[in-house]
Amino acid sequence: MGRRPRYPQADGTGALTGDRKPPRKTATRLVEGGRRPEWTGAVVNPPVWRGSTHLYDTHEELARGHPNADGHFHYGRRGAPTQWALAEALTELEPGAAGTMLYPSGTAALFSALAAVLESGDRLALTDNAYEPTRAIAFGPLKRMGVETITFDPLDHAAFEALVSEGVAAVLLESPGSLTMEVCDVPALADIAHRHGATVLLDNTWASPLGFAALDHGADIAIMSLTKHVGGHSDLLMGSAAGNEKFYRTLRRAAQLQGQHVSPDDAALAHRGLRTMQLRLERATENARKVAEWLAGRDEVAQVLCPLLPGAPGNELWQRDFSGGCGLFSFVLKGRDKAARGRFLDALDLFGMGYSWGGYESLAVPFDPARIRDRMAWPPAGCANEDVLGIRLSVGLEDSRDLIADLEQGIAALHA
Ligand SMILES: *Cc1c(COP(=O)(O)O)cnc(C)c1O
Repeated sequence: MGRRPRYPQADGTGALTGDRKPPRKTATRLVEGGRRPEWTGAVVNPPVWRGSTHLYDTHEELARGHPNADGHFHYGRRGAPTQWALAEALTELEPGAAGTMLYPSGTAALFSALAAVLESGDRLALTDNAYEPTRAIAFGPLKRMGVETITFDPLDHAAFEALVSEGVAAVLLESPGSLTMEVCDVPALADIAHRHGATVLLDNTWASPLGFAALDHGADIAIMSLTKHVGGHSDLLMGSAAGNEKFYRTLRRAAQLQGQHVSPDDAALAHRGLRTMQLRLERATENARKVAEWLAGRDEVAQVLCPLLPGAPGNELWQRDFSGGCGLFSFVLKGRDKAARGRFLDALDLFGMGYSWGGYESLAVPFDPARIRDRMAWPPAGCANEDVLGIRLSVGLEDSRDLIADLEQGIAALHA
């Protein structure tokens, strides 16, 4: 048999660190990321390489083995140029990242990263406003692995310091928090955690690296559901975890041993989404601000939980630390009549009702966080005690005037 053409591999043997080019601005990185000539060949995008098996030319070559280095083909589970290109593009967007691992969902990324840094007997400090499945991971599989989880209010620094000073191995932050949107002081909390020897993980799905440089602000590991902004079109699930120099190898080892893998077709779709992510986020943010301002002026609304709005909870920290936003925010309707909230939602036409967010299309879901929190009060400060009806909006790329008209139908239905 003749010599096979070499499978396209990254030059060098190290991690795909993204440091091979002079630093460029974010918009340029989004266009260039992952487009190494050795991966793309003569076309613009890295092709979809489907394959589980890599064929070797000779038995000596097979026996010689293969470096377990990023960008080197060995077996399909470690990916091929399609997945490496996406991982490298993500690493280039995350200042301070030594590398990025990909997972079949954001939830898989959360589980894998937590399992990578925790072991039996460890304690995990979990922000009380975490994404609900994160909480379920902590009190389910992590508990069975012998990890004890303690929740904390991320706005109460004194209580947080008291907790970590008693010894926790890792802290999981999320900012803004799921559903209730509290922005926390990540640099201050990370500093406290590091002083007491804890590893800091941050679920950065809301902001993405375009809106919040997680590792630069003190996180050791930045986790993201790529299902949301990166995919951006409601047609794929994927997750990522980027680690700093100290933690990337740890993440990588765990992910490889757990068999975490994403299909090349999905990786190519996610990579396509990444190219336009900045434009989509800018537009969604602008739309969300208009919709949130409109809601803030309605008598039926007790409070708008949108860090983009001047004067809203979290706005000061958002202005201090973030470089962008997105279309996701919440608001509280006055009263406790769930049937009225149901009429509001059913009257919406443009806002689809369903889980997930970050797609090009707008979505709305009701929420009742009291049931999944044990530290933080609901309703939030600023609402009367009887105002408990939460609604979360994912504002998409439609014309904001149409979205506001749609919400007006919802408000009218409240009074039906
Ligand atoms: C959706 C979401 C996840 C999980 O992502 P999947 O890809 O749906 O598993 C994790 N964190 C946050 C904040 C999310 O909104």
